[in-house]
Amino acid sequence: MLVRAYIGLGSNLQNPLFQIQNALVALGQIPQTELVRHSRLYRSRPMGPVDQPDFVNAVAALDTQLDAYALLSELQSIEQQQGRVRGVLRWGPRTLDLDLLLYGDEQITTEQLTIPHPGLLQRSFVLHPLYEIVPDLQFASGELLAELAKNHPDDELEILDAAEIHR
Ligand code: AMP
Repeated sequence: MLVRAYIGLGSNLQNPLFQIQNALVALGQIPQTELVRHSRLYRSRPMGPVDQPDFVNAVAALDTQLDAYALLSELQSIEQQQGRVRGVLRWGPRTLDLDLLLYGDEQITTEQLTIPHPGLLQRSFVLHPLYEIVPDLQFASGELLAELAKNHPDDELEILDAAEIHR
């Protein structure tokens, strides 16, 4: 069975642009999984401790035959390959963070996995890139992504232009 999943990507260390571009390539290489499309790259201000570099964020759509736990484990191995150091500081700086935002219409609440991802509805750097790639998305709760994105301030989110990306 093929399931549409959405992944949130974020990085603010060790050349974040490069980290996100690399991660997008790696997402396309997950077994039994196809990278369907991804958003443009966005720059966002850090939440939580502010004394850290800006983030680069994006959202990707995957079609996968993996179950949610197998997909999470693939995401974690990509994070590890890209040198993520799990620090003690919540919301601290990170080389690469990959969040499983949605896995089909499934709702999962276990120790290992919460889907939809709990930050999804509150974070402009997730809502806006997600809206870019799937503007007609309706959550299992009935809520429309378009409504949420419209009503959610885009904070200081900026779309990175091609010149910056290829610099
Ligand atoms: P973080 O350090 O914020 O990336 O959190 C990683 C931990 O969150 C891992 O141990 C995962 O098992 C757990 N987790 C729970 N739900 C999710 C999700 N939807 N996507 C990614 N990680 C998740």
